[in-house]
Amino acid sequence: HVKPTKVGGKTADIFHSDKGLLKSVRQGPPAIVEGVEGCIGNTPLFRIKSLSDETGCEILAKAEYLNGAGGSPKDRVALSMIQTAEADGSLKPHSGDVIYEGTSGSTGISLATLARARGYLAHICMPSDQAMEKSDLLLKLGAVVDRVPPAPIVEPGNFVNRARALAQARTASSAESADKGSVADASQLTNTTPTSEPGAATGRGLFTDQFENAANYAAHFNGTGPEIYAQCGGKLDAFISGAGTGGTISGVALFLKPRLPNISIVLADPQGSGLYNKVRYGVMFDVKEREGTRRRPQVDSIVEGIGINRLTANFDAGRELIDDAIRVTDAQALAMARWLVEKDGIFIGSSSAVNCFAAVKTALKLGPGHRIVTILTDSGTRHLSKFWAQAGNVGGTVDTKLEDVLNA
Ligand code: PMP
Repeated sequence: HVKPTKVGGKTADIFHSDKGLLKSVRQGPPAIVEGVEGCIGNTPLFRIKSLSDETGCEILAKAEYLNGAGGSPKDRVALSMIQTAEADGSLKPHSGDVIYEGTSGSTGISLATLARARGYLAHICMPSDQAMEKSDLLLKLGAVVDRVPPAPIVEPGNFVNRARALAQARTASSAESADKGSVADASQLTNTTPTSEPGAATGRGLFTDQFENAANYAAHFNGTGPEIYAQCGGKLDAFISGAGTGGTISGVALFLKPRLPNISIVLADPQGSGLYNKVRYGVMFDVKEREGTRRRPQVDSIVEGIGINRLTANFDAGRELIDDAIRVTDAQALAMARWLVEKDGIFIGSSSAVNCFAAVKTALKLGPGHRIVTILTDSGTRHLSKFWAQAGNVGGTVDTKLEDVLNA
C-alpha cells in the first residue's frame, strides 16, 4: 500500500484509493521479455464503446499499434520474415547484410527497428506521397530511404521493383567484390538515393518481399489470429480488415475460418482499390479500367497502407475465405477518425479509420448482438502531416451523430 504524499501542501488521499483508482486496468503485469522483439504480439483487444453503444454490437479493436518495436502489426511480419531468412541462411546476424523492402512505411519502420536489434542495415523504398513522419522516422533509425515517385507496379521505378533491383545489385556486387577481395561500393547502386548507404555495409542484399513472402501471412496465422480467437474465448461473428499486402486478412482468416465456419470475413477497402471488385465480382477491373489503372500510379486515396490494384500472393492465400467487401471513401475515413477522437479518445491512422467504418457497416448489416473484431494498425501520430492535416482538429464541444459519419 502506497503511503499518502504531500501534494501542494495537502496530504493527497488519492493514494488510499480502495475503489480501483490508480490500479492498472490492463491485466498483468506482463513478464520481463528480451528486447524490443519481446514486445511484439499479445496486443490488447478492447471494446470501442461509442460504436458498440450505437450499433448494439460489440465492436472490438485489436490494438496493433501497441506492438512495441515499430508500432504496427508489421512488427510481427518483419520478425517473421527475418527469422525465416535467418533459418534458410539468406540473412546472417551482424554480417553487414542489407535488408531491402518496398513499403508504404510501416513494414519499413518495423524492419529498420529489428535490423538495428539484429545487426543488419535496412534500405527502404517508399512512394514519395506517403506521410513524411514515416520517412523521417526511418532516417532516425539509420535506414537508407529512397522516396520514389509513385509509379505503377508494371514500371521499374515502382518502389517495390526498385527495392528488388537494389537487393539484386548488392548481392551481385558483393559477390564480385568478394572475388576481388574489396569492399562493395554501395553508393553506386543508385544515383537518386537521398541518404548514402553506410560504407560498413559489406554483406549481401536480401529483398524481403512482403507482398509475395508467405512469412507475412504466417505471422498473422501464428500470432494475430490465435490471439483474437483466445481473447474472444472462441466467440466472434465477423473479422474486418483492409489489405495492403493482404497478410493480415489472409493469415487471420486462415486461422479463424476452420474454427468458426459461420464467421464473416470482410475486406475494408479504400476508394480506388481494385480488391473490392475482386472480392464481390471476381474481377479486379473491367477491360477499359485495367488500362487506366495500369497507368494510374497508386490507389487514389489519402488512406495509406491499404488498397491495391493487383493480386498479391499474400492476399490470394486467403482470398476465397473473404465473404464480403466494403468500400470506404476518404471522406468517410476522415469522419470516422474524427468520431473516434471525439467520442472515445482513440487517435488512429487512416487505415484503422477505414477498418472501423467497415466494422460499423458490418454491425448494421448483421444486426444487434454480434461481436465484430477489427484492427487498429497504427497511431495518428504517423499521419499528422497528411491524413490528420485534412481531418483537422476535433473541437472540444462537438456532438457528431453517427449518421453524419455514415453519410460523409
Ligand atoms: N495499415 C497500415 C498503416 C499499413 O502500413 C498496412 C500494410 N501496408 C496495412 C494496414 C495493411 O496490412 P496488410 O499488409 O497485412 O494487408
